[in-house]
Amino acid sequence: MIRNNTNFLTYNSEDLKSHLTILLYHGVTASTSIGIENYSGKHINVDEFYRQMSYIKENCNILSMNEIVEIKRKNEKWPANAVAVTFDDGFKNNYECAAPILNKLNIPAIFYICSGMIDSKKMFWVDKIEDCINRTKKNAIEILLDNSLKFSLKSNEEKIEALAKIKSFCKIADVKIKERVLKDLELITEVQPAASSAKNYQMMSWDDLKSLNDNQLFTIGGHTLYHDIMSAHINEENMFKDIELSIGLLEFNLNEKIIHFSYPEGQKHHYNQKVIRKLKNSKIVCSPSAIHGINDNETDLFNLFRIMPGFMGTPFPFDKI
Ligand SMILES: [Zn+2]
Repeated sequence: MIRNNTNFLTYNSEDLKSHLTILLYHGVTASTSIGIENYSGKHINVDEFYRQMSYIKENCNILSMNEIVEIKRKNEKWPANAVAVTFDDGFKNNYECAAPILNKLNIPAIFYICSGMIDSKKMFWVDKIEDCINRTKKNAIEILLDNSLKFSLKSNEEKIEALAKIKSFCKIADVKIKERVLKDLELITEVQPAASSAKNYQMMSWDDLKSLNDNQLFTIGGHTLYHDIMSAHINEENMFKDIELSIGLLEFNLNEKIIHFSYPEGQKHHYNQKVIRKLKNSKIVCSPSAIHGINDNETDLFNLFRIMPGFMGTPFPFDKI
């Protein structure tokens, strides 16, 4: 059984009518998962995504992130049932599964991209941990986090528990310590993480991204180079460099100014005022968080709330529960 560890709030139709709801997706998948791959529901099923998009097309006022910025600039109120569609990370399935549906239904969306991952066989560090734990032949492992911990890996439930512990340690650890844990994990599990082991691990190419960017419906934003947590850099110069390089790489390849960004992980402790100041200095006009919630007219553009339908059981906010 997969436990739901997200303490999500749900909203009634009056709340949703008067607020801006920003939907946050990572992937839309048509592939079948093996073992604990995608256990969190980070990639939602393509039919379910079609259902959700059809619902908002019929019942909501869909805004692009540029329209959201414009509404805030003019100090106007959100239109009734305002919704925006956002994607984080840059997975290949955004291009293959999500974009055709958005295109068919004429729905604007933004894709926040980890530019260092594009056109590569690199994997996100969270996916590397998942792949190591999923494919290991070991029944148990012992790994040094804060202290040395033993995990039994005899069932999917035990694997999910180990994965959750290792991931949450890495999410607050300095980037260098996280790298050390990843190396240790590869050695201990005897698994070399590979993007080829699951379709949902694969990233877009620059051609995919260029073709999304050429579509008037779609906007591209930054999301750091490799999904390192922005507030976890001990040296703030490294965080500044990450922002500059990740945006610069997108601008170089897309030949366009990038003015949107979103924070990796995006919970309260994953970004701070220094990050926001640096983004503003880099001409970024909006960077939503991934904190669960809907937005009243007071929420500022660098702290917008979002909702992740499907992730750890989070419901689509417009469904009656
Ligand atoms: Zn992300």
